[in-house]
Amino acid sequence: MTQPLDVAVIGAGIVGLAHAFSAAERGYRVTLFERSERACGASIRNFGMVWPIGQPAGELHDIAMESRVRWLRLAESAGLWVNPCGSIHLAHRGDESAVLQEFHEQSSQLGFECDWLTADEVLSRSPAVNPDGLLGGLFSPTELCVDPRAAIRRLPQWLEQEHDVRCEFGTTITSIGCGHVGSADGRQWDADRIVICSGADFETLFPQVFLDSGLKLCKLQMMKTRSQDEGWRIGPHLASGLTLRHYRNFEVCASLPALKQRIAEESPELDRFGIHVMASQNEAGDVILGDSHEYGGDIEPFNKATIDDLMLRELRKIIHLPNWSIAQRWNGIYAKHSSAPWFEAEPLPNVHICTGLGGAGMTMSFGVAERFWQRVSSDVSS
Ligand SMILES: Cc1cc2nc3c(=O)[nH]c(=O)nc-3n(C[C@H](O)[C@H](O)[C@H](O)COP(=O)(O)OP(=O)(O)OC[C@H]3O[C@@H](n4cnc5c(N)ncnc54)[C@H](O)[C@@H]3O)c2cc1C
Repeated sequence: MTQPLDVAVIGAGIVGLAHAFSAAERGYRVTLFERSERACGASIRNFGMVWPIGQPAGELHDIAMESRVRWLRLAESAGLWVNPCGSIHLAHRGDESAVLQEFHEQSSQLGFECDWLTADEVLSRSPAVNPDGLLGGLFSPTELCVDPRAAIRRLPQWLEQEHDVRCEFGTTITSIGCGHVGSADGRQWDADRIVICSGADFETLFPQVFLDSGLKLCKLQMMKTRSQDEGWRIGPHLASGLTLRHYRNFEVCASLPALKQRIAEESPELDRFGIHVMASQNEAGDVILGDSHEYGGDIEPFNKATIDDLMLRELRKIIHLPNWSIAQRWNGIYAKHSSAPWFEAEPLPNVHICTGLGGAGMTMSFGVAERFWQRVSSDVSS
């Protein structure tokens, strides 16, 4: 039987949830379809770092800051744990300090709020930082910590309760035409607009669009420690000097290529597995550690012990934890576009694909979805 919908959103990861939220806030009747009984893709496997500092200055940074505001609103209205902890990029080497100080000098002009901290100031903000060789750090107040496992589970319930979004979990969408959606179990829905947020699944819906999209897959390895001592908190998210190679905001620094070259010569194994190291702490006190990046044909289902060992080696250089024992190891796969910050396509009229936010889905999705629905709403009213 056909049940008419204004909007069908496929996929209950962070991108699908963000679209459902923005559409429902505008008064559309939304149904969210998710093939699993609970979403278990990239959105529950990440650090939970909302990381505006990593975006290049300008529109992308603005989108990240808009997302940040929505996360803070959700903390209030959906009762999510959202910790406005900020972040520190640590400098244990001269070239790391050079990049960070160069970025700091330009930061206010670029629209970032950052402070350069001396080694003592860093240590006063985080008991985790290794003081040996510490030269200082770049503090940014804008980063948030969320608990992805709890948030991705809670948000559909809240959307149902507060915004009348209907959630169809355990429903794999296998066919989409102009104005209709069909599931593997034979049910059909009519929908005025369909938004496909299927993450790293390129095979089920519109596989030919994905073939030509410029999207690739990236696999990351992650670890979580057991709970730290009662009351011990890491403070801000911590990132090592290796991270300066990873986020695009630092590309404005003339001192960055020398740092990249030093790391490539000194530790090629880190480039080989795309390793940079970061740490965040969830509400329960566990410290989340990562990460690595393996692309396309290098991806295999099994984790590499070598990668975990390298990450722990690098983490031990920058932080001390009361409890290093590892409670969980896992990997996650996301879709990333080769040149654009995300991928959008309209393979049929009013059928949209939105994916490929790479390592920034938790940071960007709410802002990306808002921009999309602002555009749709202004097209409809003009
Ligand atoms: C290890 C790791 C660490 C990361 N750390 C961070 C971080 O700290 N900060 C940050 O900003 N980003 C981070 N990211 C990136 C972020 O997690 C991703 O960008 C984001 O989760 C992608 O969301 P998504 O909704 O596109 O995909 P997913 O979360 O994978 O969701 C897609 C959903 O669609 C469903 N689906 C697919 N096809 C169908 C179908 N045909 N019918 C019904 N349902 C379907 C799937 O079951 C899935 O639940 C990290 C990613 C990983 C893997």
